[in-house]
Amino acid sequence: MYAFTYERPATQADALRLAQAGGKLLAGGQTLLASMKLRLAAPEQVVDLGGIAALQGIRREGQALVIGAMTRHCDVAESAEVRTALPALAHLAGLIGDRQVRARGTLGGSVANNDPAADYPAALLGLGATVHTTARQIPADGFFQGLFATALDEGEIITAVSFPIPQRAAYVKFAQPASRFALVGVFVAQTAGGVRVAVTGGGNGVFRHKAMEAALGASFTPAALAGVATAEADMSSDLHGSAAYRAHLVGVMAQRAVAQALA
Ligand SMILES: Cc1cc2nc3c(=O)[nH]c(=O)nc-3n(C[C@H](O)[C@H](O)[C@H](O)COP(=O)(O)OP(=O)(O)OC[C@H]3O[C@@H](n4cnc5c(N)ncnc54)[C@H](O)[C@@H]3O)c2cc1C
Repeated sequence: MYAFTYERPATQADALRLAQAGGKLLAGGQTLLASMKLRLAAPEQVVDLGGIAALQGIRREGQALVIGAMTRHCDVAESAEVRTALPALAHLAGLIGDRQVRARGTLGGSVANNDPAADYPAALLGLGATVHTTARQIPADGFFQGLFATALDEGEIITAVSFPIPQRAAYVKFAQPASRFALVGVFVAQTAGGVRVAVTGGGNGVFRHKAMEAALGASFTPAALAGVATAEADMSSDLHGSAAYRAHLVGVMAQRAVAQALA
């Protein structure tokens, strides 16, 4: 590594001041530290969010679960509150990486990073969640902007995510066997605003599958998805799977997710 300064502010206000002055936010370091070691990132100052109590925790607010940005994946997976109100989200968090990754990785870090194969973005988009930041509230539909890109401005900090509690939801992924990232993951939800289907891992970023949403809006059954195609042109191709294979997986994962939501 190379020289950089390290700050661990105790308040959100201090973190914001440091971030706006160019400090690089550090959550669990699961992506950032690896990027620094590989010299893909070279921040002069690292701002550790781990000392800010206001960014931690899970609470119910009416018909939503509000989860602090620094809440670790293992805490979401094991939370009695999440398991009761939104079991699909607890299940999703429990599928992320391995035990070590879940013990360090955070909701805010995952969402800010927007890896095209990450799991949480599918839950945010599939549920129509809202990202709370130090500046504003951003609907998931406008937050994710393609490969590792989000609506966040420089120096803006995610403070929490608010997940509306759906009538039914489920997440199923076909995991890349080494990393456990999604080769394809599909989140389906029956919400007050209709059926939502979000796909991660298939292409350059999480996206809603409008044709599946229409089919499931008419009939929320696995069979309703039988004839619904996924465009191969929207899928990526690499040594783990061709675009055709990924497009096929989207259909299979979506049918399994609907079956799981109905179970
Ligand atoms: C071996 C391995 C396997 C993994 N498997 C999976 C998997 O199966 N599924 C999956 O979804 N993910 C997986 N991950 C990713 C992991 O779960 C983390 O969510 C992800 O790496 C982000 O890590 P972090 O929370 O520690 O954030 P960091 O690495 O600390 O930060 C990531 C980025 O987000 C920014 N950031 C962090 N917090 C905030 C905030 N509050 N506001 C604004 N910006 C912020 C940082 O500046 C940085 O740019 C895996 C990671 C590893 C190393």
